[in-house]
Amino acid sequence: MKRAETADFHVPARLCPSCFEQLDGASKIDSEGAPVPGDVSFCIYCAAMLRFGDDMALVAEDRPESLNDPKLLEMQQQVKTFLEEVKRNGLPLRCYACERTLPEELKKLSPPLEPGMCIVCAFCAAVNLYNTRRQLVELTDEELLNSEEMRAAVALVQESIDKRKAHAH
Ligand SMILES: [Zn+2]
Ligand SMILES: [Zn+2]
Repeated sequence: MKRAETADFHVPARLCPSCFEQLDGASKIDSEGAPVPGDVSFCIYCAAMLRFGDDMALVAEDRPESLNDPKLLEMQQQVKTFLEEVKRNGLPLRCYACERTLPEELKKLSPPLEPGMCIVCAFCAAVNLYNTRRQLVELTDEELLNSEEMRAAVALVQESIDKRKAHAH
């Protein structure tokens, strides 16, 4: 992996140089297409203004023309507002398969939702794993997927989906 030089340490590509969170799928904000060196981006974890360096590693934006650009500052404010919202309410839980937002009640479960727990999507019956980043991802553990308990849980959800569909017609 290429690394960007900074004053006293090496920052691997795609780590936010400000908070060191892993940034994947950085999106361009000022034009279409894949990012190119020099493009500005924001860290979705700490709202730091970042720039794609010559080797496409993310570096802290330090060019005055960006730091003083009202358009960019407004975008940064939007990211900050989003982050405050997430802090208050948590990230919306979205099924990895159908991408529908799962009910807010999931966050108020008792015992509470912990990383490592599985959730069967109420819309498509896909088995989601709640990971340590508090996101829902595909459960890829075949053994767990094929366990009797999991099959039963999926069957139960599938049954209620079928019922809902039958009622809709
Ligand atoms: Zn950051
Ligand atoms: Zn789903």
